Amino acid sequence: MGLVVMKFGGTSVEDPAAIGRTASIVAGRVAAGKRPVVIVSAMSKVTDQLLRAAGAAAQGDRTGALAIASRLRSRHRDTAFALVKDAAALANWIEQKFDSLDEILRGLAAILELTPRISDLIVSYGEQISSRMIAAAFRERGIDAAHVDAREIIVTDSQYQKAIPIDSAIDKRSADKLPPLIRESKVPVMGGFIGANESGITTTLGRGGSDFTAALVGSAMGAEVIEIWTDVDGIMTCDPRVCADALRVKVVSFEEAAELAYFGAKVLHPATILPAVKKNIPVLVLNSRNAACEGTRIISLPPRCKSPFKSIAVKKKLSIIDVVASRMLMTHGYLKQIFDIFDKHMCPVDMVSTSEVSVSLTVDSNEKLPAIAADLSRLADVKYEGRKALVCLVGDDIRGKSGMAAQLFAAIRHINVRMISQGASEINMSFMIEEDDADEAVRSLHAAFFQDPDPDIFDVEARKQLTQSEQLTAGS
Ligand code: ADP
Ligand code: ASP
Ligand code: MG
Repeated sequence: MGLVVMKFGGTSVEDPAAIGRTASIVAGRVAAGKRPVVIVSAMSKVTDQLLRAAGAAAQGDRTGALAIASRLRSRHRDTAFALVKDAAALANWIEQKFDSLDEILRGLAAILELTPRISDLIVSYGEQISSRMIAAAFRERGIDAAHVDAREIIVTDSQYQKAIPIDSAIDKRSADKLPPLIRESKVPVMGGFIGANESGITTTLGRGGSDFTAALVGSAMGAEVIEIWTDVDGIMTCDPRVCADALRVKVVSFEEAAELAYFGAKVLHPATILPAVKKNIPVLVLNSRNAACEGTRIISLPPRCKSPFKSIAVKKKLSIIDVVASRMLMTHGYLKQIFDIFDKHMCPVDMVSTSEVSVSLTVDSNEKLPAIAADLSRLADVKYEGRKALVCLVGDDIRGKSGMAAQLFAAIRHINVRMISQGASEINMSFMIEEDDADEAVRSLHAAFFQDPDPDIFDVEARKQLTQSEQLTAGS
């Protein structure tokens, strides 16, 4: 039935102008005979600010917390009035929401303890409010939008701040709630990122989780495509904020996109791809500021790429833990004991490297490290160091291409490499360096590997146009 899930991130709904662009994009899909289900994030930076307000309140800074909430209140109220002519009812609802947020913040400032459950409740206000406001803005622009509370559809377990969705319950709730609206030609609009456990208590899917919501709903509804609308032209050969030369990747495989997302390409939430893979639903990454651009298509079987790599991702704020056994302990069961400790602390490990007596691991959890190190120190000597970055190059069949590692490390020979990993997957090569060296490493690698990109896979036209206009400017 032409069902399309369209997810708009924070920058695509950051102010009235952005929400207006978003509405035009959705209206365009409706006019083309598609049936959109729209997922929206909180307005940009709102999640960060809500977390700051919660943190301040829990530290006893009641005034600071309420001041942040008051700025958010004005921003949402002003946006509502700018978007909707007769905004009295919407504005009233927004005021009530912020009144109840203020109540929670005052309570927190009194009890001085922020639990993950309360944190989720507080951050959920961002998507709760944006989604209702955007649905109203859509109606004002002639789209028959119906707001749906995401917490009635996205059923999760109770791991607050990183809740795991329960697919069977989501399938059932989606099937109950969405098709009746779609049959009446309505456009459901719901917040991303937030859900609720089976008792109805608010949870969240982890930072950047609106992409995940889109994939869950797309998969539950058997959508023909999931569109992730953001502020760049698609998945690029590296973060365009780090290297202005970044090229749009026209097409990647699900595996490559998952690897890039997991290893830090913020453009997609790591778990987004899974529900789509299961149902073989293509995912498109598109730019809401440049809707004419065809974006990146994530599909199961993209054409072969003649260039060695498709993209470079970076994950920062990592730590390396060295576990060094004083005796020769590399015996049967030793690694298991180490991993059991990480498991107990529910701390995922990104990279592992072993020698006869030592094991080095990298993790992205800083708060849990002291407790993990204390447990590990019962097995061996433990050292840990923060401020590391993992750089990961993704491309099809890296293993099958010889000389790749030599070229890679030649390109960054001026940078000190702490750990290397290749072979865990055929499509990724990664290494660990100091965080301060990460941007330079990306630029050097980009210059080395994206000189002569495969035009079937990369948007080389954009680079040509850029070079031509640079030459024109230089000549004028
Ligand atoms: P949204 O609010 O739409 O979810 P995000 O900020 O989460 O947007 O993700 C988009 C940002 O991801 C881009 O602005 C870009 O700076 C960053 N990014 C990092 N790596 C990449 C990459 N390889 N390709 C595209 N964008 C990237
Ligand atoms: N608003 C949430 C965040 O900033 C979720 C999202 O935007 O995807 O993490
Ligand atoms: Mg995002």
